[in-house]
Amino acid sequence: MEWRGAAIQNDGMTASALPLIAIDGPSGVGKSTTAKRVAARLGWQYLDTGAMYRAAALAVRRAGIELSDREALERLLAGLDLAQDQGRMFLAGEDISEAIRSQEVTLLVTPVSADARVREVLVDQQRRIGARGRWVVDGRDIGTVVFPGACCKVFLTASPEARAQRRFLELQAKGQSPDFAAVLADLLRRDTADSTRTASPLCKADDAVELDSSILNLDQVVDWIVQRHAAHA
Ligand code: C5P
Repeated sequence: MEWRGAAIQNDGMTASALPLIAIDGPSGVGKSTTAKRVAARLGWQYLDTGAMYRAAALAVRRAGIELSDREALERLLAGLDLAQDQGRMFLAGEDISEAIRSQEVTLLVTPVSADARVREVLVDQQRRIGARGRWVVDGRDIGTVVFPGACCKVFLTASPEARAQRRFLELQAKGQSPDFAAVLADLLRRDTADSTRTASPLCKADDAVELDSSILNLDQVVDWIVQRHAAHA
């Protein structure tokens, strides 16, 4: 399903459009935390599209297939049974929320999410899920490709150092002993891969508003989105 032709305003709000909030931006910028909080405030549902690509990468890994084996990939995609519930990600009924955060999956999700056929299948699922609106959806291509008619589009940014610092503290809080340089290098690797790939590269939609989360805190970003939404609803 497509949403096109909505009138564009200059503040991230699009008139007469699907009641759906699209939050895009690079890795580690706080999209999912922001999206969850906005969804909770509005009583809307939250869709984590990054978790869907991670689930697809885990499925590819478990099946032991190469992306170059197009027949095997096609079979896998035809049977890909994904679901999200209460912030948990399920693959064929199994809760894979922890498994998709492993380093192996984080590395494999880059080529898997750059595959045009994988994107076609997952974007189709995302459009079906969000078709009736009242969703907050985060990812890399939500405002540009998946829901170009979303009523509110936000492009969240923060410097690589600020994002790496947050990720570093998160890992420490989980009891790990991360190396700051390695955390930063991984973010930069994913930034480059996501913004330079041919299929739906990460970029700001023309009608998205850019919010820099290195100068705004989480509450300010959430408040901004909720207030904007209320003002235009
Ligand atoms: O959001 P998260 O970092 O969990 O996403 C995992 C990966 O999935 C990203 O590094 C990106 O390559 C890919 N992705 C994407 N399009 C989306 C969401 C995520 O390509 N809409």
